[in-house]
Amino acid sequence: MHNETFDETHDEKDDVTHDVTLLPGDGIGPEISRTVLDILEAAGAPIRWHECVGGVTALETVGEPLPQATLDSIETTAVALKGPLTTPIGSGFRSVNVALRKHFDLFANVRPALTLLPSARYPGVDLVIVRENTEGLYAGIEHFIGMENDPRAVAESVMLITRYGSRRIVRFAFEYALAHGRRLVTLVHKANILKYTQGLFLEVGRQVAAEYEGRVEFDDRIVDATAMQLVLDPYQFDVIVTENMFGDILSDLAAGLIGGLGFAPGANLGERAAIFEAVHGSAPDIAGRGIANPTSLLLASCLMLDHLGETSTAARIRAALRRTLDEGAARTPDIGGTARTAEFGEAVIERLEGDTA
Ligand code: NAD
Repeated sequence: MHNETFDETHDEKDDVTHDVTLLPGDGIGPEISRTVLDILEAAGAPIRWHECVGGVTALETVGEPLPQATLDSIETTAVALKGPLTTPIGSGFRSVNVALRKHFDLFANVRPALTLLPSARYPGVDLVIVRENTEGLYAGIEHFIGMENDPRAVAESVMLITRYGSRRIVRFAFEYALAHGRRLVTLVHKANILKYTQGLFLEVGRQVAAEYEGRVEFDDRIVDATAMQLVLDPYQFDVIVTENMFGDILSDLAAGLIGGLGFAPGANLGERAAIFEAVHGSAPDIAGRGIANPTSLLLASCLMLDHLGETSTAARIRAALRRTLDEGAARTPDIGGTARTAEFGEAVIERLEGDTA
């Protein structure tokens, strides 16, 4: 692993080396990051890491949760791998994850749900949820309305949907489908009840879909029916595109189908930057014990390698991970074993080395 500054000179080999910002994160973040970096290094991923801090670790070391140096690094590299960041409840600082999404306008949250764990409830699931990351109810436009002596008699949140935001996320989903050889985009909405906001999302979605006719199939579904259908028959879905809150809920549902959040990576993508992360949190209950499962962050790093064009390295890592899980080698406690994080990493590396021999 390298931790270098940008102004150093590099030899010819560095022409193919990608600069990536690393935020190891809080809680179990440093433990799982270490293992993921070991696996990437063993796989020969040509990455020069620029390690930065964020979250509670940053607050404790440099006095602020999202230091300018971290933002500057991501601005320069345009790609980051991020461990989970703790958001202390009621402590005053807002979620660094949300701040990063806003700062870099990371409008697309991509969450693949792929079965890797043999004991997962649904074998063979392979779908992707594309969630709009900046609008909807989560835009945070809310307030109280006072009445008589009660200043909080009414609470109101605004569901913000724009033509611009809808168009760019649906177009993103279609481009993603084309780039990844996927056949169907399903737009999920609630336009039967929310006729203005969800109606606009659906209207724009249908317009965008027309541009891709003959190349990618399209259908639309109501969110509640989609939740049921995902549980009854997840195999009918391929790419789902939806607004912010529905995407949040459905992507956790989809993670449940394939073994839980420990197997769910996420990518936050915008025009200027891409941040890849484990979907789970910093797991304070097991932090520092060396028993966390690094799979989610490892899968996030594979998404990052795909993004960087290092698709064969990503495929080799996924294959080694699949073999490790299939053989039941080095299972961490969350998946019924006793292995430590580092042992799990070594098991993946052994299977990786077998692949390259
Ligand atoms: P969590 O995901 O950290 O933990 C929930 C449960 O899952 C815990 O029992 C934990 O031990 C377990 N778990 C999570 N990841 C695991 C792993 N890799 N291996 C084994 N077990 C694992 O959720 P939480 O407790 O609600 O949140 C803790 C902190 O993380 C909070 O401060 C929250 O704000 C933050 N958080 C951050 C992110 C992020 O950075 N993307 C996401 C969610 C939560």
